[in-house]
Amino acid sequence: LLGAAMAAVALITIIALILALVNRQSLEQPFSTKYGVVFDAGSSHTSLFLYQWLANKENNTAIVSQKQSCDVEGGGISSYVGNPAGAGESLKKCLDVAKAIIPDKQLKDTPLYLGATAGMRILNLQNQSQSDSILAEVTKTIQSYPFDFRGARILTGMEEGAYSWITANYLLENFIKHTFEGLWTHPTAGKLIGALDLGGASTQISFTPKDPLKDPNSAFHLQLYGYNYELYTHSYLCYGQDQAVKKLQAYLHTVCCASSPDCGFNGVYQPPVNGEFYAFAGYFYTFDFLGLAPKAPLTRVLSTIQTHCSKNWTTLLAENPSVKPKYLRDYCTIAQYIMTILLKGYKFNDSWENISFQKQVAETEIGWTLGYMLNLTNMIPAERPKTVTGVPH
Ligand code: AMP
Repeated sequence: LLGAAMAAVALITIIALILALVNRQSLEQPFSTKYGVVFDAGSSHTSLFLYQWLANKENNTAIVSQKQSCDVEGGGISSYVGNPAGAGESLKKCLDVAKAIIPDKQLKDTPLYLGATAGMRILNLQNQSQSDSILAEVTKTIQSYPFDFRGARILTGMEEGAYSWITANYLLENFIKHTFEGLWTHPTAGKLIGALDLGGASTQISFTPKDPLKDPNSAFHLQLYGYNYELYTHSYLCYGQDQAVKKLQAYLHTVCCASSPDCGFNGVYQPPVNGEFYAFAGYFYTFDFLGLAPKAPLTRVLSTIQTHCSKNWTTLLAENPSVKPKYLRDYCTIAQYIMTILLKGYKFNDSWENISFQKQVAETEIGWTLGYMLNLTNMIPAERPKTVTGVPH
């Protein structure tokens, strides 16, 4: 009898343990994934990016991925000058999309940021009270949702360039890598890639130069995982692709320093380009359409653009029934503009093969938003993990 009682007690204990384990797992499950949301309030439109990562892997590299993106209907927030409340209203559908995906209990712990770029930068220069009231209205709308709202602000051009550079290199695990054996390795500095971004109203170039920068104003200093980086970054306001189309022809101001090796364009200091580059956003759309992504030899690029630009509108429409005419109209102009910027502006003549026209890494879009979130949520620590192997620089 005693034996049977003991066996029963043991069985009950085991069942209780299993139930406790199952219960604990089901309790922890909803919180094992964390979320973050960033609105990219661009000049031509606003997009929402919802990111996710595993809570116990925070501060590891490249564990954040894009769960969802949502395109806000209508124009960029800077187009709501006459109706600032409309800018706030326009965000609601995408806020609802993010809210529906994130478990209710986690909404108040989900950081949400709104960053505005060149469209608002220009409006802010032209009329600060108008840009302030638009930011106030988008703030009001977002605050009516249960997220952990961390503010709506206009990014500087240098921030926009630097955060895209962080995004691309983070996704490629170029800062630090957690190996299968559980070791941290520091990839060599030569692996870092530069970032070329072509937005609607501005264009950015960011890379680590070979030699120390001669102009400290063009330097962006970062300390990531215990390593220091000096980044050259410049944002050319009003050199986005929409302006290029408005002007119909890219006209780069070549007075100042065009023949000097330390020059971008428009008189801006730039060291010689260095290493591999990813060209995304507007660069990608046009090169993808032309069948030139991710890479093509310069001769093929030039001949493809020439062939495309020689076609008349009727032929283009007939050949591309699924392409939106508003984009189709501009691919020739933008392709010419891209070539002018890359060859005459940034001077990629001898390093053309170093540019990859790419929109994503590991199904996550390249742009400033992920780098911005990683930085503001302190997910890229300044210190290095305890055991790092590899070559320091
Ligand atoms: P932004 O909104 O500032 O990120 O600018 C992106 C630029 O790319 C804008 O000029 C858009 O009009 C343009 N764009 C977006 N999608 C496409 C596409 N599929 N083809 C060509 N251009 C595009």
